[in-house]
Amino acid sequence: MFQKDPNSTAKASKTAKHISTPNPHFCFYGKGINLDKEPLIYIDGEYYPKSQAKISVFDHGLLYGDGVFEGIRAYKGVVFKLKEHIDRLYNSAKAIMLDIPLTKEEMINAVLETLRKNSMRDAYIRLIVTRGVGDLGLDPRKCRKPTVIIIADRITLYSGETREKGIKAMIVWVRRNPVDTASHEIKSLNYLNSILGKIEANIAGFDEAICLDKNGYVSEGVGENLFIVKNGKLITPPSSTGLLVGITREVIMKLAEKLGYMVVERNVTPADLFTADEAFFTGTAAEITPITEINKRIIGVGKPGPVTRNLMDAFEKILGDPAEGIPIYA
Ligand code: PMP
Repeated sequence: MFQKDPNSTAKASKTAKHISTPNPHFCFYGKGINLDKEPLIYIDGEYYPKSQAKISVFDHGLLYGDGVFEGIRAYKGVVFKLKEHIDRLYNSAKAIMLDIPLTKEEMINAVLETLRKNSMRDAYIRLIVTRGVGDLGLDPRKCRKPTVIIIADRITLYSGETREKGIKAMIVWVRRNPVDTASHEIKSLNYLNSILGKIEANIAGFDEAICLDKNGYVSEGVGENLFIVKNGKLITPPSSTGLLVGITREVIMKLAEKLGYMVVERNVTPADLFTADEAFFTGTAAEITPITEINKRIIGVGKPGPVTRNLMDAFEKILGDPAEGIPIYA
């Protein structure tokens, strides 16, 4: 298999397979595009320059949000918790009865190969499996083959300065979808619930939204899990509030226990949030993001607190450790 460490001085091969084998769903080759400079995107086993990476408008991922996905990060040449993300992807697919046409091992290799093709060591990876091309009805049986897409890019949710100060969050009116609906427990392409929450926070001038569940308990952010610290103890809401069981959430719970903090999973009320000593979001994109204001109530002393800082330091230390993921250029 072709493997090239981007740190080496040799030039990457620019002869991509896609030129001679165009995407069957794609019908436009733009003029004046420098294909050599564009990131390569994986679609169904082939690599396409970003401007040519297209899928059919009849794909049910677009028409109905029928599909599943993962957001994954690579740090210093190691894809953080890749196996865990792949397991969650296949679990999400199982829950919606979507047969992914690759084994887990093949999927892991496809992710690693996409990073190698783009000579990346640090990246935000978006892995998407849609129901595939069907007709305009919503019956998934009409979709014969799922579409698999892997994008290797970068993401910054908040500037370093914003993160350093802590963000301002707002409890929004949009309730987390309950567990007997298409809730975030399954990481599907249905994110309108989160997007509505984000819109509310945006228009009110806050950095991020916090969603309550249908009973009024705190669930999570729009793409992040939430922790509070009270009297040195970490508290995070349970999955019964319809949240996505985050991989970063699990990592933080384990790190916190290692550092000697007690971690409790229990219902959290808005009043618990307002009176917390510290609060922070966790997520692949958000990493650990301190929250210093919620609905205009200052959290603790209005700065990222000592427990949050300890966890941020401990988290930073494990990134890039081959024991915490899968090396790209092994
Ligand atoms: N909740 C939601 C709704 C999300 O989309 C995400 C991001 N995947 C998270 C929580 C955090 O999960 P993770 O730590 O696995 O990225």
